[in-house]
Amino acid sequence: MVTWNDLKNECLACNKCELSRTAKNVVIGRGNENASLMFVGEGPGKEEDEQGLPFVGKAGQLLDHLLNAIPFQPDEYYITNIVKCRPEGNRDPSDEEAQNCLPHLRNQFRLMRPKIIVCLGRISAKYLIHPDFKITQNRGKWFDKGGTKMMAVYHPAYLLRNEKEKVTQWNDFMEIRKALNEYIK
Ligand code: SF4
Repeated sequence: MVTWNDLKNECLACNKCELSRTAKNVVIGRGNENASLMFVGEGPGKEEDEQGLPFVGKAGQLLDHLLNAIPFQPDEYYITNIVKCRPEGNRDPSDEEAQNCLPHLRNQFRLMRPKIIVCLGRISAKYLIHPDFKITQNRGKWFDKGGTKMMAVYHPAYLLRNEKEKVTQWNDFMEIRKALNEYIK
């Protein structure tokens, strides 16, 4: 059985794809490793690559603001990404890069056993919920994967460009709050 230390060491030593050549840091995750709720984005951006932490740039600040406002306590969730190294220029990770990195995420699932997984954006939902996931049609809906509740919401970076969708995001996060309450009551 892989431990968190094994997983971190495997990620730090990983060179299974080209992203390892240009990334400054391997961005594994942040938050409570024993939480019931896991957020999964697509990959680190420039700020995340610099700091070695996911969702710490402008989009991450917006995410934190929303989480604090709902509220979710910081120990109630864990945040990670499909790929752990930054795709340069903030492009989407290629299918090959994602497939190479998914075993690390699967190990995170095994260690955490989250009750709820929330995909932050289409790319994450494509790999975790359905290959043809349509974010505008299917965000905010619950899916069941082997007993784990899964939902996709807009990526916080999308909300920076589309302010009017913040209400939609708020409502989706309220649904996630309600679902988490069911597990902790
Ligand atoms: S993105 Fe993932 S698979 Fe590629 S080098 Fe980094 S840790 Fe390894």
